[in-house]
Amino acid sequence: MKKIYNYLLNTIPRPILIRLSYVFKLFAPLLFKGDKVYCNVCDKKFRKFLSYGSKVAHRENVLCPYDLTLERHRLMWYFLQNNTNFFTANKLKVLHIAPEQCFHKKFKKQENLDYTTGDLESPIVDIHFDLHNIPLEDNSYDVVFCNHELEHVEDDAKCMRELYRVMKKGGWGIMQVPIDSSREETYEDASIISKEEREKHFWQKDHLRLYGLDYPKKLEQSGFDVEIYDFHKHIDATQERHLRLMNDELLYVLHKN
Ligand SMILES: [Zn+2]
Repeated sequence: MKKIYNYLLNTIPRPILIRLSYVFKLFAPLLFKGDKVYCNVCDKKFRKFLSYGSKVAHRENVLCPYDLTLERHRLMWYFLQNNTNFFTANKLKVLHIAPEQCFHKKFKKQENLDYTTGDLESPIVDIHFDLHNIPLEDNSYDVVFCNHELEHVEDDAKCMRELYRVMKKGGWGIMQVPIDSSREETYEDASIISKEEREKHFWQKDHLRLYGLDYPKKLEQSGFDVEIYDFHKHIDATQERHLRLMNDELLYVLHKN
């Protein structure tokens, strides 16, 4: 049973997996009973997480069997809980682009949020639009989330400027992307267009670039002030082991001042 479960989770494409996740949820707590790892998003402990990732970037023990969170989701949740007023502020106007399944329902239920979701075509969002031309007013959101999107768009600088434009002065946001920390500069090559080549060069079939350590500089060029949140300074070793975070992942917290 465990083998079948692992096999399915590693072969079925993630969007379908997400739709099937309600079935897995019934089995996960029993199959993975234990307390070696902890998912702070669903607030559950397990014997271990599942493995996840393409051939190029495969990782063991990272995918929560209950709500399918990965390292980056647990890091963002930790940050929101411990370093922001996201759960406690009276009223926050939030724009969430391409909302992650594990966050979407939770944020939607949160009474302190005036919560709007957007995406090009996802059926679960409130409004459909192209990130290059966001049909929303300037300075209108306290918080903007747009994770793992900028590596998919044609003109990422234009999209960053749009995200900056709709954020309120004094607002903040999180816009994580996959980063190859061995690269100083972002790798882009417009002549690479086949799915196979894109996966090889940019880590995924539908990625148009592979960001390097210059990612925060790109955000600054779009207007944001970038605060770097290094979880090692905030989370002790035991917590870190339980949450199974990605050792070199830095969280870039963006501010519009
Ligand atoms: Zn979970």
